[in-house]
Amino acid sequence: MDIKRSGAQPSRKGPEDYFTGTVRIDAPFAGSGALSGGTVTFEPGARTAWHTHPLGQTLLVVAGLGRVQREGGPIEEIRPGDIIWFAPGEKHWHGAAPDCAMSHIAIAEIKDGSAVTWLEKVSDTQYGA
Ligand code: MN
Repeated sequence: MDIKRSGAQPSRKGPEDYFTGTVRIDAPFAGSGALSGGTVTFEPGARTAWHTHPLGQTLLVVAGLGRVQREGGPIEEIRPGDIIWFAPGEKHWHGAAPDCAMSHIAIAEIKDGSAVTWLEKVSDTQYGA
């Protein structure tokens, strides 16, 4: 058993290459090495770039109001208690609503040393569509 105590890991900023707006990542974790995750907080208007996960990803929304979209699909609103699954290789993004922050716990399995492949940014037009 291992307990990672709250506050033992510093908060870090979501890298500008992969996120638009202000994003904070807290409490990253890894299980046996095949699992990775963390808590991600998006300020209003902030979102990920487009990306895929080699073995899929689960999001558990814990606060606020957010948006998700898979390529070719509509923008969907997400709220606390919602659980979102992205299939392996499914191109998508996730983020806050334009006027409301959102926090989710993100969990993804690692394949060949990576849990994500980053693509182009989500434009303001795509985000606001
Ligand atoms: Mn994702």
